Amino acid sequence: MTGKAGDVFIGLGNDAIARGAFEAGVHFAAAYPGTPSSEILGNLATVAKDSDLYVEWSVNEKVAFEAATAAAWAGLRAMASMKLNGLFVLLDSLINIAYTGHGSGGLVLVVADDPFAHSSTTEGDARPLGYYSDIVVLEPSTHQEAKDIMSYAFDLSEKFGIIVMVRETTRLAHSRAPFKLGKPIRQNRTAKFDYNLPLHNLPRPHLRHGTLHAKLEKIRKDEFEKSPWNRYDGPSKPSLLIITSGVAWKYAREAVDILQLQDVGILRIATLAPLPKSMILKRLKTTTGVLFFEEVDPYLEEQVRSLASELSSKTIPRFFGKLSGHIPSYGEIDINLAIKAITSLRNLKYSPVQEEYLSIVKDAPDIVPRRILTFCPGCPHRPAYYSIYRAIKRNKGKGIVTGDIGCYSLGVFYHGVMRNQHSMGAGVGIASGLGKLDQFGLDDPVISVIGDSTFYHACLPALVNIIYNQSKAIVCVLDNNATAMTGFQPHPGTGFTATGDVTSKVPIERVLQGIGYQSISVVDPFNIKESIDTVFKALRSADSEAIIFRRECALITNRQRRQQQEPIPLFTVDIDKCFGEQCKICSVEFNCPACVWDNESNKARIDITLCNGCGVCVDVCPHNAIHAL
Ligand code: SF4
Ligand code: SF4
Repeated sequence: MTGKAGDVFIGLGNDAIARGAFEAGVHFAAAYPGTPSSEILGNLATVAKDSDLYVEWSVNEKVAFEAATAAAWAGLRAMASMKLNGLFVLLDSLINIAYTGHGSGGLVLVVADDPFAHSSTTEGDARPLGYYSDIVVLEPSTHQEAKDIMSYAFDLSEKFGIIVMVRETTRLAHSRAPFKLGKPIRQNRTAKFDYNLPLHNLPRPHLRHGTLHAKLEKIRKDEFEKSPWNRYDGPSKPSLLIITSGVAWKYAREAVDILQLQDVGILRIATLAPLPKSMILKRLKTTTGVLFFEEVDPYLEEQVRSLASELSSKTIPRFFGKLSGHIPSYGEIDINLAIKAITSLRNLKYSPVQEEYLSIVKDAPDIVPRRILTFCPGCPHRPAYYSIYRAIKRNKGKGIVTGDIGCYSLGVFYHGVMRNQHSMGAGVGIASGLGKLDQFGLDDPVISVIGDSTFYHACLPALVNIIYNQSKAIVCVLDNNATAMTGFQPHPGTGFTATGDVTSKVPIERVLQGIGYQSISVVDPFNIKESIDTVFKALRSADSEAIIFRRECALITNRQRRQQQEPIPLFTVDIDKCFGEQCKICSVEFNCPACVWDNESNKARIDITLCNGCGVCVDVCPHNAIHAL
């Protein structure tokens, strides 16, 4: 972030976007952490204090975007960054603010899509949502473009008074490549509130909609039809035209290079909404076949097919892509898929990888030792789930656990305790509904498990709903004092801001009290007996109970230990006391990866290379066979 103009830096696509925003003179940046977007704000936070730049981790993406809108309204350059799921959270505000405009400042939204859902629960595509919201959508293909496009995005937003979305995907966000730094422009603007510019859509919002469409049409004509961000490489009359965007452009280029096809053209579109229709139509007339190569949805494919209806029937080319089955309709795409599609259309024979290699890859899952998806050794979520699991067992198996998004989502693999996992906060809303079904004959107790960051993000309305509508749902907050899954960003319960400043804590128990929870228990999940008893009592209670399992993430504990050069406590199994096969509670039921099975002694053993020294297995073992060394 602090490199000089002209330096070449090898960094992530997210580093490039952050630097690009910095060079563009962003004043206000807000975000909620979410892979693969988190590094953008993290980077900006490192230079904020020395650069007259305000950054914040907001409680959720909707608030981040609204806070950024306020800064733009006051004439500043503002951005909000998030993963795709965050865009879902703010759509209502986005569409409204697109109508009202946002004042004279620049307002840029960076959205990171995650094809293949590497770090997400769904795949999705921000491009059609941007189009639907009537905002501008840009997509860079390279790291250099990712940096450079940010200045253009701010300029465009200010010139036309429109929200500009910059879309990226995981392979850009999280790959490293060189990019050349430019000169940061720090604009000393004073925030001013324009009392003559209220932002509302009343009366007659539909007229604003019309104005917005006219603005988009002007951007299309004045900016995008001849935009240098779009490019065409290939012959003037290609036998096949590949239309692509983002990193898919690089795959398409490499595929064409590998196949050494001189007669294939590639049209890369970076200005995705509004589309440069005339330019695209002109290209369509030059070919008889078009292959769409894009991630995730057939956005360009559907738009361009619809556009082609303006051509005479004789000049409409044949279209191939996701809709024709030449490209998979889901998952990530790559060079091999481009090669496969092109060779099938051109009747060429080319195997991107040897058959022998493919058969080895096919057998690989049986060769590689299997790893289960589970919590780290020493993670406080394991004993929390173990307590819930044991309490439900004690309650004769009665107890439905709804879940949420975060590292505690691994509860779906923990004896199948967690029954659902959808969007942030959804587990509480679903619990609220399940807790009202007794009049229809479903009176099983319901437990909603949420994390501490999620608690602030999206759970509060559903928690209010539980109290307001007197739903019999228990809420368990697994408070590990961090947004651990995305890289330990602070949240309102940690007492720190994005720039590391000390701030007021918003204690979870006080929020629950304010909402109206009468019974709030705070337990240490490492205290297994107390934890099981507390959950069991809640399962038997007629009230809406709240339990906070409070214990910091094991990775934080380990980091502190390393800093203070404290050794990790060691534990061992006394094989004379261990009941072996007849028990297996530590390794199978409690399921700590460090509680392994010793095939020679047929007894449990603690693998000290994995053990994090939490000591919980000492209490879990019913035969006092585990003790400290
Ligand atoms: S819980 Fe105790 S007795 Fe049971 S297998 Fe583990 S060490 Fe042995
Ligand atoms: S002390 Fe026991 S429960 Fe904790 S990490 Fe080590 S083996 Fe696992």
